[in-house]
Amino acid sequence: MARKSGVEICGFLFGGREGDAFTVKEIRFVQNRLNSPTAFEMEPLEMVKAIDDAEERGLEVVGIFHSHLKCPPRPSGRDLEGMELWPVVWLIVDDKGNHGAFVLEGEKVREVEVEVV
Ligand SMILES: [Zn+2]
Repeated sequence: MARKSGVEICGFLFGGREGDAFTVKEIRFVQNRLNSPTAFEMEPLEMVKAIDDAEERGLEVVGIFHSHLKCPPRPSGRDLEGMELWPVVWLIVDDKGNHGAFVLEGEKVREVEVEVV
């Protein structure tokens, strides 16, 4: 999906939590209002709607995903700022099909495992 886009794509992972494990039940794309190949910002109204829709079905935000086009799937400085605002799992995919998932713990970024079931 990221491969076909000239701009960063982004959106939410919705699901539930059991202890330390998150289960993603739904992926929802949100427009990147920056339309940029190196940064993203979710279109605010679409973002609120996505969260409302999910909550109606008993799902919560467990993660945020976005793509990196020319750099590895690790959080950028800008992503770290976003991670402070949204303390959920941050999933980053690149244009070669690699991915990484991260959480911010205090000032440290920790990589978390993604298991596809
Ligand atoms: Zn990024």
